[in-house]
Amino acid sequence: MKVVRTEAELQEALEPARVSRRSIGFVPTMGALHAGHLSLLTAAREQGDVVVLSIFVNPLQFGADEDLAAYPRSEEADLEMARDAGVDVSFVPSVDEMYPAGRSTTVSVRGPARLLEGAARPGHFDGVATVVAKLFNQVRPQRAYFGQKDAQQVAVIKALVRDLSVPVEVVVCPTVRESDGLALSSRNAYLEPSERTAATVLWRALQAGERAVEEQATWEVVEKTMEQVVANEPGVALEYARAVAANTFEAPADGEQVLLVIAARVGRARLIDNLPVRR
Ligand code: AMP
Repeated sequence: MKVVRTEAELQEALEPARVSRRSIGFVPTMGALHAGHLSLLTAAREQGDVVVLSIFVNPLQFGADEDLAAYPRSEEADLEMARDAGVDVSFVPSVDEMYPAGRSTTVSVRGPARLLEGAARPGHFDGVATVVAKLFNQVRPQRAYFGQKDAQQVAVIKALVRDLSVPVEVVVCPTVRESDGLALSSRNAYLEPSERTAATVLWRALQAGERAVEEQATWEVVEKTMEQVVANEPGVALEYARAVAANTFEAPADGEQVLLVIAARVGRARLIDNLPVRR
């Protein structure tokens, strides 16, 4: 596995693949890799010729009051995991490499980026879209892999790819969970043991919501059902529990793919999760 830190090194590493027209599968991450990231790398390994991983804690997608400085970093262990997963090239740029002085362009997203996570974290999705657009241009993958865990990010990236005609296929991989249902997240590292137990309430609320959907409850009742489950868990502060259309994150219309989405604060961690449901 090659580890490259500059755009020039990345292009050099990918040149043979481009010349021989081998397909490139790309997995963008912020590192602190876990089994969720690994599932994306495994899918990329199975479906493509060359697998590129990026590890970049993107300052543009963190708000001023967020956890940029505290975000877990574990480059050595990440690269070891990447090697074991069959990654060919790991791209680990510095902030200065990605954003040299004088940078003057930002990708601005509306639509699904305005709501829920976008409302709670102003500028977050512009930061995501800007870095992903840049990474797509640097790596030029045929396929790029994202986790269902960050469903609104998936909606934003699909909109970006469509609106800017980016020649990439977006592949979405299912959420990987602990045995008790907690979705794997680098931010779970912030949880104290008692908070870790309480954090399963996100998954329990989503499951209760799903049962309500199966019982033909209205979306309003489904949302109330999820809120009630979280209200019964002390130490967890709900931000939202909603039923939304998967593409727009607006209230669902008949026949649309619906997602139950939830966000809550547990200790100093802000956790999100979601569950696709069928009517
Ligand atoms: P991050 O490093 O948190 O930016 O995540 C990088 C990619 O891994 C994103 O596409 C995430 O959606 C995905 N991911 C994170 N956690 C999980 C998980 N538990 N299951 C599946 N994919 C995940």
